Amino acid sequence: MSNEELLQLSRDELINRVEKFLRQVEKYDEELSLVIVNRRRSLVVDFNDLLLYDKQLADYLIEKPDLVIESASEAVGRLIEEKDPEYARLVQRFHARFRLSPMERMSIRRLRSEHLGRFVSIEGIVLRQTPPMHYVKMAKFRCNQCGYEVTVTTDTYNSLQPPKKCPQCGAVNSMVFVTEESVITDWQKILVQEKPEETPSGQLPRSIEAVLTDDLVDTVKPGDRVMLSGVLEINLFEPRRGKLPVFSRLINVNYIESLQKEFAEIEITPQDEQEIRKLAMLPDVKERIIASIAPSIYGLDDVKEAIACLLFGGVPKELPDGTRIRGDVHVLLVGDPGTAKSQLLKYVARIAPRAVYTTGKGSTAAGLTAAVVRDGLTGEFYLEAGALVLADMGVAVVDEIDKMDAKDRVAMHEAMEQQTVSIAKAGILATLNARASVLAASNPAFGRYLPNRTVAENVDLPVTLLSRFDLIFIIRDEPNIDRDRTVAEHVAKLHSGELTQGFRNMIRVDLLRKYIAYARKYIKPVLTPEAKDRIVGFYTQMRAKSTQEAGSPVAITARQLEALIRLTEAEAKMRLSSIATAEDAERAIRLFMRFLQSVGID
Ligand code: ADP
Ligand code: MG
Repeated sequence: MSNEELLQLSRDELINRVEKFLRQVEKYDEELSLVIVNRRRSLVVDFNDLLLYDKQLADYLIEKPDLVIESASEAVGRLIEEKDPEYARLVQRFHARFRLSPMERMSIRRLRSEHLGRFVSIEGIVLRQTPPMHYVKMAKFRCNQCGYEVTVTTDTYNSLQPPKKCPQCGAVNSMVFVTEESVITDWQKILVQEKPEETPSGQLPRSIEAVLTDDLVDTVKPGDRVMLSGVLEINLFEPRRGKLPVFSRLINVNYIESLQKEFAEIEITPQDEQEIRKLAMLPDVKERIIASIAPSIYGLDDVKEAIACLLFGGVPKELPDGTRIRGDVHVLLVGDPGTAKSQLLKYVARIAPRAVYTTGKGSTAAGLTAAVVRDGLTGEFYLEAGALVLADMGVAVVDEIDKMDAKDRVAMHEAMEQQTVSIAKAGILATLNARASVLAASNPAFGRYLPNRTVAENVDLPVTLLSRFDLIFIIRDEPNIDRDRTVAEHVAKLHSGELTQGFRNMIRVDLLRKYIAYARKYIKPVLTPEAKDRIVGFYTQMRAKSTQEAGSPVAITARQLEALIRLTEAEAKMRLSSIATAEDAERAIRLFMRFLQSVGID
């Protein structure tokens, strides 16, 4: 029997066929019971099960999703009724939701007209979300003069319009909307953007609107990585401006789930693991990692080590009282123009397993944190995720951070320490996750870095925000004949295609990425007592010094103690060690001292 023949199947026959499938595949009996026990309204069906049991039906779902989903939902309703008639009566409308396997996933970029009306599955990041709204599927109007009733089934071309005159008694404007007898469902629109790693370099990420209804509403948040399947449709919700019959599209979502936001979405094969382990055994693995960070940039080894610490990160901690201490390392580079800051940042954005690159100004209204924006076309309010939310569980690379707008200046404080972004505006109230490391760069406020002024004066960022960076480096462009010559030679060699020292020990970019992803996923170092002693000793010493000197450019607080611990953990992770030793602590302290010297304390 071909699909053509299947087309002849009546709705009843389709329902029976789905019902048979659900009865025959054992696990769905339990799943159905779980739906009842958990008071849910949806049964999730694995597309693969359907494919194995009834391939034609599976194919038919892809081709004619609306019909199959509707019939399947009806079948689910019947089976639930059999098990628990009372609950079935209470809910009335159940849903069959189909989870497609990763094999069936499409890239947002490749969706075309040929996919319209078909069942598709995509993966992406939720960029925007409207608050929950109510969609009227069927409206009941009643004449307030004679009681005559009219039902209007909505179609998306028209807004809900009752008849001007009562068809029975002829009274004008007498038809009143009857809420309790209309069919209304929860409705929410989201915008899903393709994952940064799927966007070809140099191109803007594509996105697609998706509509969530009923129990799917509010199951995801901006910044979430999601997998969804649904029907690709022409976007009839878009207000028509009466010109060409050209429409955008949207996905009417049937199934959605948030994906685990592990750093290691990167696939690591057993061979990779072997290679990673081998690399970690090398005594000079740290040097190699540092040398592999932007090898085309000469010098700046401390900065590169700081960046390495940022890429590996410390260990986040959850205290018994529920407070969370971040493991993410934040680094700020302040420097004269032309000192390769932007170049370094671009490089990190390329090697970090998950990175979002932006400038302080940002390319969207949401900027660095989040915003409630109003869609210019539809007038709808949206909650939109900014760079730090999109970089959740990854690295947010922010160039020219001093140019960020006032709203972000405030929100960044929370985002960098608590690693959440809270927003309350236009009736939207939300807290989004922003567990990202921030690598930021800033040009000096006066065009050049003035050594006789403090960092805060030089950067034009509030001290409170500066204190949230674990490390700050000042990169100054001072003429120095020897150094200038070496840089010049380095750059000239690069341009002539010669390989310099730095490149020889370099770790391949793809391997380094996997190495970092592996460390972030599996290695959670613990400090040895010696390592702790070193850090505590150093901290108390620094603290004593900083309280003596009034007006120190950086206040030494418990925050810096946490920073030292994070850096020590990162140093251990760099060699894939689950124990952070005194040696790791020494390196962290050395790095920290370089930061203090660089900002003018020693
Ligand atoms: P910034 O963002 O600090 O103003 P850029 O990153 O745009 O500077 O760098 C300007 C140019 O100078 C880049 O092409 C960069 O590669 C080069 N450059 C600056 N310093 C170095 C260095 N130490 N080694 C190699 N190239 C450098
Ligand atoms: Mg720059």
